[in-house]
Amino acid sequence: MGPISRCSFVVSLAVAGLMAAGSLGFSQSIAPASGDPTGASQSFKLIPSLDKDLLDTAADPCVDFYRYACGNWSKLHPIPSDSPYSDQFYNLDQYNRQVLHSILEGAAVAGSARDANTQKIGDYYATCMDEDAIQKKGVTALQPELDRINGLASKDQLPELLAHFQLIGVNAFLGFGSQQDFKDATREIAVVTQGGLGLPEKDYYLRTGEKDEEIRKQYVQHIGNMLKLLGTSDAEAASAAQAIMELETALAKVSMDVTSQREPHNIYHVMPNSGLQALTPALNWERFYPKTGAPVFSELNVAEPEFFKGMNAVIADTDLATIKLYLRWQLVQSLPGTTLPKALDEEQFDFGGRKLVGVPEQEPRWKRCVGATDGALGEALGKAYVERQFPASSKAQSLQMIHDVEAALGRDIESLDWMSPATKKLAEEKLHLIANKVGYPNQWRDYSKLTVERGDALGNNLRAVEFESHRQLAKIGKPVNRDEWGMSPPTVNAYYSASMNDINFPAGVLQSPFFDPSSAAALNYGHIGLFMGHEITHGFDDQGRQFDGHGNLHDWWTKEDADKFTQKAQCIVDEYSHFSVGDTKLNGKLTLGENTADNGGMRLAYMAFLARAAEQGTDLEKKSASGYTPVQEVFLGFAQDWCAEWRPELERLIATTDPHSPDRFRANGVLVNMPEFGKAFGCKAGQPMVAVKACRVW
Ligand SMILES: [Zn+2]
Repeated sequence: MGPISRCSFVVSLAVAGLMAAGSLGFSQSIAPASGDPTGASQSFKLIPSLDKDLLDTAADPCVDFYRYACGNWSKLHPIPSDSPYSDQFYNLDQYNRQVLHSILEGAAVAGSARDANTQKIGDYYATCMDEDAIQKKGVTALQPELDRINGLASKDQLPELLAHFQLIGVNAFLGFGSQQDFKDATREIAVVTQGGLGLPEKDYYLRTGEKDEEIRKQYVQHIGNMLKLLGTSDAEAASAAQAIMELETALAKVSMDVTSQREPHNIYHVMPNSGLQALTPALNWERFYPKTGAPVFSELNVAEPEFFKGMNAVIADTDLATIKLYLRWQLVQSLPGTTLPKALDEEQFDFGGRKLVGVPEQEPRWKRCVGATDGALGEALGKAYVERQFPASSKAQSLQMIHDVEAALGRDIESLDWMSPATKKLAEEKLHLIANKVGYPNQWRDYSKLTVERGDALGNNLRAVEFESHRQLAKIGKPVNRDEWGMSPPTVNAYYSASMNDINFPAGVLQSPFFDPSSAAALNYGHIGLFMGHEITHGFDDQGRQFDGHGNLHDWWTKEDADKFTQKAQCIVDEYSHFSVGDTKLNGKLTLGENTADNGGMRLAYMAFLARAAEQGTDLEKKSASGYTPVQEVFLGFAQDWCAEWRPELERLIATTDPHSPDRFRANGVLVNMPEFGKAFGCKAGQPMVAVKACRVW
């Protein structure tokens, strides 16, 4: 838990799918629900690491290299009607879903030959697919949870209910979990975080302007529609939705914005339990903790104390009837659409998919159920996936590349003219302590205590979420397990964790176009080499650099070096702040860490490639079979990582809430800063792909 612990490679699509919310980062699907003709029949293939069909050779590489490398993407890979975007990550993810689909269809065939994990993934998937059974049960499946809310006789009973909701992934008012202690990475502590919003971020409640006002109007309408489908009368629903919106707006006002949350010190306030109690007299925490099943603890991180003060006032000032309506809403909006009757599912998609990110059609049900199974049983499904899809040779070759990229950072640090020897020594120490995790965990997660029942879709989902909540909470007070992974093996992404000081590359991303064992080294370094450099650089971006090699938040920089770092980083803040999507400017501060990682990552990948090429005696001037020199191939591979087309609604959502820049800025934004790129393509000073003032941190 906590935004610091993970710096992934691509945008968080959980944000894009409000409705995908099974909490705890569960369902990966962006757009839920059934019945899309294109999505269902379209077949996705692996894209080659240099796809010449994507090139727009009429474009001038020195004017707009992105257009040169990716000019035909939109034509060849138009956005499917069930997606908010189309890019290389999406394409590979869809390909993986086909693989997982075939595994799950096999696992779903009941029979005594299935082992325990196969039974679980097969039955989870088959039950998710059984729309008729879900429809037949209707909202009665939700009744036990609704009864808990109806049974609230006074606000005094709120703590027990909120605790139960935490376990099943309903973050009403707040979030509760465990995290590595920022200042002592060897231990796990309890944490409470701000929560309780249904829109993606606080600004969605507060920004003025036509688009935001329209979304808010649609949101209130959506809340009303969902309540009606749960049985609230037409007459009551409108005023109830308005009251819920007012409550959430009050929470939004006291919430910390996404940019401030990137600063580790802003979200780290360890205090005795009595400290949280003093901030929130309206909520008796001694009634909350035991109901979560968490081990007893005496201190915890109150990530945003100001929020909790404000939340206390909201609870104190709101009448019980309104709180109960809010809880109904929070409950139903947190459930994946695949567990709900059709009308609720469709309404959830209509707002979260159609209105918020502009997707016309729901994904076919099988895709959503594959995503749901991956969310619930990621390492059981992942084990089967790895056996089928990930050869040991790919693991060995990826590890070798990671070592090359890490060695490049070592040489890079040594060569920096702005950093003192004292800081350099500690930076090198941190670099050597990075743990490299590739493919899948050494120890597979044990799901034996999770019951999956054929025919109980909602129950399966709630039990899976609760299983994961208990697993997370059981860590409190225990030593940290450094073997653990935060992404399932089929995931098309990668991440760095500052507290673990590790990089993690799931098997799912180690495929073409990003990694292809049969491709030229130049292309692999341009593609996956960049990803590796990106994740490693996260350890040294504005956020990561505040943690030492052991994962502790501890300032190891001399004041002078830190000041120089900040100056250099400001160049990147300014550069990306000039990009805009529609009428929305990118937030250079929010995206600083990712942009630093992209820039540093590309430099490292390039250096690693040169070292490898020197070792192999590659002639860098000689054109390969592709018609490009190896150096040009590195940059082409890199740029084709970012081939994309996004719907404007998604682009706007990401630009305002996500620490990653939209794909299309990630290519040119980096290359203008690299004179090596300009040289490789014969660009001249004054051309758009040559920065007047090149930024370089690492
Ligand atoms: Zn990143």
